[in-house]
Amino acid sequence: MPPIALILFGSPGSGKGTQSRLVGERCLPGPHISTGDMLRAHIEAGDTIGAEIQGLMKSGRLVPDELVNRLVEKRLSQPDARGGVILDGYPRTVAQAAEVRRMLGLGGMLPVVVHLVVDYDRIVARLSGRRQCPVCGTLYSLSTNPPKVPGVCDLDGATLVTREDDQEEVIRERLGEYDRQTRPILDYFSRDGIEVVEVNGADADPASISQRICAALENAHSQQGPGGCL
Ligand SMILES: [Zn+2]
Repeated sequence: MPPIALILFGSPGSGKGTQSRLVGERCLPGPHISTGDMLRAHIEAGDTIGAEIQGLMKSGRLVPDELVNRLVEKRLSQPDARGGVILDGYPRTVAQAAEVRRMLGLGGMLPVVVHLVVDYDRIVARLSGRRQCPVCGTLYSLSTNPPKVPGVCDLDGATLVTREDDQEEVIRERLGEYDRQTRPILDYFSRDGIEVVEVNGADADPASISQRICAALENAHSQQGPGGCL
């Protein structure tokens, strides 16, 4: 059976980070490859690639596909990636998607695309219900973890505020941006004969949702058939 490369998509607030971790623990023990983390690690290390990335960001330009692809390809060639990987935050463009197809094909890996779908109103309700204490930084949630006295920090009595990132229009803007960026990539995979498995990421607890993703991986493997290869 070919090793699996799980390509996990999910909007901000969909629980994608949690699911990457849970799926890794439950059924896909290979490395969790996050391009965001890789870029940050290079910047922190202060190496040549880090300097290149910082220069691009300072001038307000995007990190080019070619550089991101090169980092991912290098990471995929490490011995610990041979048994399977989770790709998080990659591919982010159609050009990157075409490239990851090629890389996984070369490595004999089976790509499985999972889209964690959460109703946007639900995400907005959850994130916009967050309040923060401007003094001590404690976060509250009006639905799951409210302060004892409405609008006031339990620890120091300061008046709670809604962070800029948690304002409804800011959240909706980010979700819209996610859609505009992701839809063409999912369409690309579908057209290319790779099924996009949509997993409901909202109607159960995180452990049950990770079970669904693992079932999708299992299913993709069994559709390969005995001795199947790419
Ligand atoms: Zn406080």
